[in-house]
Amino acid sequence: MFFRARSLVLSLFCAALVGLSGFSAYLAVQRFGIAELQATGLHRLDLYAASLEREIGKYAFLPGTLSLEQEVLDLLAGPAGGEAAKRVNVHLEKLNARAGTLSIYVIDAHGRVLAASNWRQADSFVGEDLSFRPYFRDAMASGTGRFFGIGTTRGDPGYYLAARLAGSEGDEGVLGVAVVKVSLEQLEKSWSTVEAPVLVADENGVVILSAVAGWKFTLLRSLDERMRAAFDHTQQYNRRALQPLGMREIAAYGHDARLVRIVGDDAEAVSVYPVSGRFLAQSRAMADTRWTLTVLSQLEQVDSLAQSRAALAAIAAACLCLLAAVVAERRRHLRHRLAARETLQKAYDELEHKVEARTADLSAANHKLQDEISERIRAERTLRAAQEELIQAGKLAVIGQLSTGIAHELNQPLAALRTLSANAGRFLERGDADTARANLARIAELADRMGRITGQLRSFARKSNGLSEPVRLGQALDNVLALLEARLRRSATVVERHGPREEAVVSCDPNRLEQVLVNLVGNALDAMAGQPRPRIELDWDCADGAVRLQIRDHGPGLSDEACSHLFEPFFTTKQAGDGLGLGLAISAGIVRDSGGSLQGANHPDGGAVFTLELPLAHCHD
Ligand code: ADP
Repeated sequence: MFFRARSLVLSLFCAALVGLSGFSAYLAVQRFGIAELQATGLHRLDLYAASLEREIGKYAFLPGTLSLEQEVLDLLAGPAGGEAAKRVNVHLEKLNARAGTLSIYVIDAHGRVLAASNWRQADSFVGEDLSFRPYFRDAMASGTGRFFGIGTTRGDPGYYLAARLAGSEGDEGVLGVAVVKVSLEQLEKSWSTVEAPVLVADENGVVILSAVAGWKFTLLRSLDERMRAAFDHTQQYNRRALQPLGMREIAAYGHDARLVRIVGDDAEAVSVYPVSGRFLAQSRAMADTRWTLTVLSQLEQVDSLAQSRAALAAIAAACLCLLAAVVAERRRHLRHRLAARETLQKAYDELEHKVEARTADLSAANHKLQDEISERIRAERTLRAAQEELIQAGKLAVIGQLSTGIAHELNQPLAALRTLSANAGRFLERGDADTARANLARIAELADRMGRITGQLRSFARKSNGLSEPVRLGQALDNVLALLEARLRRSATVVERHGPREEAVVSCDPNRLEQVLVNLVGNALDAMAGQPRPRIELDWDCADGAVRLQIRDHGPGLSDEACSHLFEPFFTTKQAGDGLGLGLAISAGIVRDSGGSLQGANHPDGGAVFTLELPLAHCHD
């Protein structure tokens, strides 16, 4: 709303500026043009006045010179004789022809024409009474007479120059008046070629000379009836109807300059320049006459120049306004852009600040996470170490369980060793070296067997690292059965092994696999304790990259409680000292670490069956 009002005010201001510029330019150019016209007009005034005065002055002396002619004086003085008049007539005729004037004539003191240059023509002035003519009266009264008028005889306009002719006695001897009528037509014609109209008005305001033919004998000012009557009497304008020129003054400038309007019909006036419209009129009073010379300068050119300059100024102002508007628009645009950039920079700074804060948060969170991870790793390591310890503890527990059987196993050969070594001594004393040698060989065998047993135990008891490697399943089963050999034999347990011909090689830690198998076979033996025909079936096959080993016993099977808590640590149904309840939990952990699984279930035909699945390294034929 504010911007719309502002742009409206600006538009109005621009429009006012454009208008004012145009108007000022119009006024300035017009004033300048008028001043120029005025200067030119003054120059023309000088020029035309000089030419007119020169033209008139050329003949000014002529009437006076006739007083030097004795014949003329005689004619005026004496009674009019035919011969004298004729001689003067001829003289005047010649003089007129030579001077190039319209006519020359001599009037006596009563106003009657005594001799004239046109004496031969039918309409000759000779004998005419011209006492009513003002030039005659003036000349008679003051010595000279000047008069512009229209001839009474032929109606030709002309300028009359009259001079009083006197005898040698001065005023007393006034004889008459000599008159020369001059035509100003040539001068007029030369004016018609100028670029603007010029006119001469006499003391009555009647245009007597004009470059425009239609203006001649028109009135510059109104004429009252008294003056009209006087004109009729003097026949100055030969009874012409004096119409007003139609010039009206609009404004007055200095140095006798006026702004006038001439109302007229251009079509009627035959001229090279317009004779109606607005003009600058400049007038000057002529010397020696009571005439006024007026030059008119057309304002049309000044007007059109002022108009074109005004239009130019208006266009220039409009261009300036437009330029100012463009510059203002550009500045506004620039300001907006700067503001936008500032906002953007602010947003960017804020964003950067946020990112920095977030990064700091993230790095703090990262540190925290790293700490947590290290903590977890440490905990895991601790857990793993604990697991390792647990596995070892479980193994030691198994070894503890085995120790009774192993001790028993070792006791037998030890007793045999004692007997054999004692017997060997006795046989040597008797000299029965062969029997003694046979005894010693038996001793060596027994020592080997004992060594094997302890070796197996040592190998089982060593702490393994849990890393997987290819292990022959058959070999592992052999080792386990060897470790449990004493128990198996004591309980007369039958072990059946069923498997494919090709040897299964699994990926596992060999020592820990044996620990699992010892546990499972040991549990089976525990379950079948006291049974008359204990039997363990070991079945395995290879499928889908894994070995599936089933260890089935023919004991009572798993109770419901055992089924639901089978792999929980410290779950045992055995007497204190017989079991810790860690065997299956540890075994399941070992199998899981190797990428396999362990499950326990009851066989439909009785007894428990444990299924051990381990990833297959490869199968050998
Ligand atoms: P422990 O042998 O020390 O009790 P285990 O984790 O090896 O610990 O066994 C947990 C329990 O699972 C045993 O106490 C027993 O009740 C049951 N169990 C394991 N194997 C068998 C099996 N073959 N037949 C019946 N019960 C079994």
